[in-house]
Amino acid sequence: MRSRIITGMNAPVSVLIVGGGLVGASLAIALDAAGVAATLVEAAAPRTDAQPSYDERNLALARATVNGLAAIGVWPHAAAQATAIRHIHVSRAGEFGSARIAAAKHGVDALGWTLPARELGAALLHRLDACTRLTRLAPAKLESLEAQPHGWRARIRTADGERTVDAALLVGADGTESFVRAQLGIEAVRYDYAQTLFVATVTPERDHGHRAYERFSDDGPVALLPLAERRCGLVLTVPAEQADAVAALDDAGFLALAQQRFGWRLGRLSRPGKRHPYAIQRVAAQRLIGPRAVLVGNAAQTVHPIGAQGFNLGLRDALTLAELVAAADDPGAPDVLERYAARRAPDREGTMAMSHGLVRLACLEQPALAPLRSLALLAHDRFGPLQDRLARHGMGFRGEPPHAVLERLP
Ligand SMILES: Cc1cc2nc3c(=O)[nH]c(=O)nc-3n(C[C@H](O)[C@H](O)[C@H](O)COP(=O)(O)OP(=O)(O)OC[C@H]3O[C@@H](n4cnc5c(N)ncnc54)[C@H](O)[C@@H]3O)c2cc1C
Repeated sequence: MRSRIITGMNAPVSVLIVGGGLVGASLAIALDAAGVAATLVEAAAPRTDAQPSYDERNLALARATVNGLAAIGVWPHAAAQATAIRHIHVSRAGEFGSARIAAAKHGVDALGWTLPARELGAALLHRLDACTRLTRLAPAKLESLEAQPHGWRARIRTADGERTVDAALLVGADGTESFVRAQLGIEAVRYDYAQTLFVATVTPERDHGHRAYERFSDDGPVALLPLAERRCGLVLTVPAEQADAVAALDDAGFLALAQQRFGWRLGRLSRPGKRHPYAIQRVAAQRLIGPRAVLVGNAAQTVHPIGAQGFNLGLRDALTLAELVAAADDPGAPDVLERYAARRAPDREGTMAMSHGLVRLACLEQPALAPLRSLALLAHDRFGPLQDRLARHGMGFRGEPPHAVLERLP
């Protein structure tokens, strides 16, 4: 039996996942693979062009993430479109230090892979179709929640009208502005970076050599990710007040800005693709769990994209939750949820602090900090144990990782 896309049912279910974005879909697949029956509710129609986050952003996937996606059978549908990252180069405009990490030095063939989110979305949809214990409601929107003695009653709006679903565990995988989080009364702390991020593909004059670049400056970070056919995924951050002017630039003007911000390491940049702007904020839920409820992915924490951590972190949320639920008699039991929160805490806090600290420290216009920043980069570059730690964290091995990501650990 294959997974069903239906528009209604009333029978109680064990796990109800709200949100079929990159993280919710991964969780649904992981639960199915572990033998747990679940229901997935997604507001968008099940097509890559309808799903908000299955778009043109280029995702840098950590090695642990690819291990996890392979373990749940998604990677075979995506691998052909992915590009290996064999080197990472971090620097700051106008300062002398730089940090470099090479896969070979750490005994692996790749530190991670880049993949357009659209391709990952297509792979997830493909794999979702093969799930046998999963019920999919799409397009369908969660409209209200009512606490029950042993779970939640969800009211869901579908094309055919309203349905109710009773669930023993409610999972909020519904993104940055999570409705589930608000209904659970969980506060979120916000930080507005006052930056806008432009994503576009460019073709550099020189071969990228499977190198991912991150470059910081007073105006914000810029990243260049290796893609197939010698192209690169450009991520250019500008102060929010300049966003309209940058959006209005013609291709030549945009390329000139990208070149000025990134420099000439890969020679002249050319052939810019369509530009996509994103406003950037950090949103952190104060708690990960509520009564018979849990938050995963962007609903739990939304981080600055430049550190390339959002989905990587969210997948570790999903795989950890699937692992704990698969081993439990009652998926919503308080001890299961408390174990989830405890296991996710070190990875979540460490990754969020790293992402936020990196962007703030590296982009603040403080000349007094320049030598320190350069020394820190040089220290990472030269000092073995620091390099190992950075490389291990960069590959997504942090805290107590879910077993699925460890399969190919070197
Ligand atoms: C420009 C950019 C670049 C990025 N680059 C990277 C990167 O290199 N590496 C990385 O790891 N991460 C990256 N990220 C972060 C990554 O894209 C996100 O962390 C990830 O998409 C979060 O997935 P999610 O499923 O938690 O949330 P979302 O993708 O936002 O999905 C939430 C889903 O919930 C659905 N939904 C919402 N409300 C309801 C409701 N009431 N009922 C039913 N459904 C509902 C929505 O339709 C949506 O499909 C980047 C982000 C941006 C913006």
